[in-house]
Amino acid sequence: MKVVFSETQRRHDPSFFLSSGTQRPNPEVPRRCDILLRAALGAGLTQIAPDDAGLAPVAAVHKPDYIHFLRHIHARWREIDGASAEVIPNIHPDRRNGAYPASAVGQAGYHMADTACPISAGTYEAALASAHTAYHAAGLVLDGERAAYALCRPPGHHAFADLAGGFCFFNNSGIAAQALRSRYDRVAILDVDLHHGNGTQGMFYGRSDIFTVSVHADPIRFYPFFWGHADERGEGEGLGYNLNLPLPRKTGDEGFLTALDVALDRIAAFAPGALVVALGLDAFEGDPFQELTVTTKGFGRIAARIASLGLPMAIVQEGGYVCDALGDNLASFLGEL
Ligand SMILES: [Zn+2]
Repeated sequence: MKVVFSETQRRHDPSFFLSSGTQRPNPEVPRRCDILLRAALGAGLTQIAPDDAGLAPVAAVHKPDYIHFLRHIHARWREIDGASAEVIPNIHPDRRNGAYPASAVGQAGYHMADTACPISAGTYEAALASAHTAYHAAGLVLDGERAAYALCRPPGHHAFADLAGGFCFFNNSGIAAQALRSRYDRVAILDVDLHHGNGTQGMFYGRSDIFTVSVHADPIRFYPFFWGHADERGEGEGLGYNLNLPLPRKTGDEGFLTALDVALDRIAAFAPGALVVALGLDAFEGDPFQELTVTTKGFGRIAARIASLGLPMAIVQEGGYVCDALGDNLASFLGEL
């Protein structure tokens, strides 16, 4: 199996994020990819760099004004007298039915869901490289590989069509799924990250050709709070093509695997031609988030069950933060495919 990785992704190196009103060290750091890359190579994967696919894969799922915003906002922000080094919004529309603002401050509020996605000088290039990484992995699957691993960072599953959030800018899993649609009539995205894949859900909420499934910590008391509940099932043509399986706090391997089995049954019934696995490793018991208690061995069991579907798959890295076992958790997952 190949691991797709772009060094350009290191250019996004946020110095902090705001959490509960306090500046904290940002856990979505370049060191994550050093650890994950070493683990992937140790598991026997072959490293390749993604092609520069331009903006087309991103434009297939993101809105033009959002792409333009991400590309130019940092330079515009720095022209504001006394502005911070990294873009962090200070106002948000309380509902998104207001006018589209012309100012950098207004647009930052419009296109950034929270204070956990600071934009620095290298963020756009890194996010685009991350998107290309996912797109390239999907291309390998289209070329006949049984599976390919996209080592993406920044991650993507909290990014909507026109909204960044939660360390995410371009929705890499969504980009991979849309790319796979060029051959397959139906594609499923299975998100096993600790957090609900709200951006992915939002992107495909009205569509029946891409089935979005997420197993995650219950958002009633956890990020992303406003999405990820079991009654969110899609809308219009997409009704019935979104499945959320929220888990109680501290759920471990057995509870996670029970929910996963429900997810896999529904995916099998959908009969997709290919699968995107949005692979977060932050449900780990030792992850800094400390919300669920999946073990290192548990990630191998999750992978084995996903593999039992027998579908070609693009595995797209989402969350999972620096801790002693981060690399072991990826190796455990990859080792069971
Ligand atoms: Zn996460």
